[in-house]
Amino acid sequence: IVEISSVSKSYGNVEVLHGVDFRVMPGEVVAIIGPSGSGKSTLLRCINHLEQIDSGTVVVADELIGYRRSGGDLFELPERLTAKQRRATGMVFQSFNLFPHLTVLENITLAPLKHRVSSKAEVAAEAHRLLDKVGLGEKARSYPGELSGGQQQRVAIARALAMKPQVMLFDEPTSALDPELVGEVLEVLKQLAETGMTMIVVTHEIAFAGQICDRIVFMEDGRIVEDGPAAQVLAGPREERTRTFLSRVL
Ligand code: ATP
Ligand code: MG
Repeated sequence: IVEISSVSKSYGNVEVLHGVDFRVMPGEVVAIIGPSGSGKSTLLRCINHLEQIDSGTVVVADELIGYRRSGGDLFELPERLTAKQRRATGMVFQSFNLFPHLTVLENITLAPLKHRVSSKAEVAAEAHRLLDKVGLGEKARSYPGELSGGQQQRVAIARALAMKPQVMLFDEPTSALDPELVGEVLEVLKQLAETGMTMIVVTHEIAFAGQICDRIVFMEDGRIVEDGPAAQVLAGPREERTRTFLSRVL
């Protein structure tokens, strides 16, 4: 459902992704791990065209992201069309990014109403269902400022799901949380994985990755160094560099 082929990306004249190939099948749950600065966030942001790539291709749900193919050439799509493509993915950031002046319910219904995902009544009903699912059925009328970090992050997850994405992207969803709030967010991710949602999770929670992810991808210096079944990568990494990294973080 996600096909990244030979993707390179530079900031200025510094290349931070070097010809990355990466594929995710429908229903797969994949963790991306690796040291700071290895390009994990950049790779995630290239998937939904929050970052523009310099070469290679990104295909999500059979759509070539950000470009139109004509003959052998690629032409950039206007922002209006990439914004539409972006809706195939739901993204959750480290820093929640909720709208502080809107209630929890309004945060969740804003985009689906704007894009007419379904009728007004159905959008509201779905928002309440999603809030129940993330354990916040009672908080619909609260404002983000009245919630804990873990609760805010669960609202952010519900908000992303409200657009009915085909793939969910998480960039260190628990890194900004106090330790005692990490578990409740990981629990929501685990439940979501069990529903069959396709998920790509950049995380430092290696134990979590081992428990709920099908695959673990280890990145270093803008390259995928190792990509394999979670249990195998954790218990018997093939690459020395993966082993070194794991021995530092475990
Ligand atoms: P972390 O674990 O710290 O989040 P990461 O693996 O997500 O790291 P990226 O954020 O993808 O790493 O960054 C990869 C490289 O690109 C780093 O060297 C970083 O300094 C650089 N970089 C990231 N964003 C920008 C930007 N907007 N402008 C310039 N350089 C950037
Ligand atoms: Mg990052």
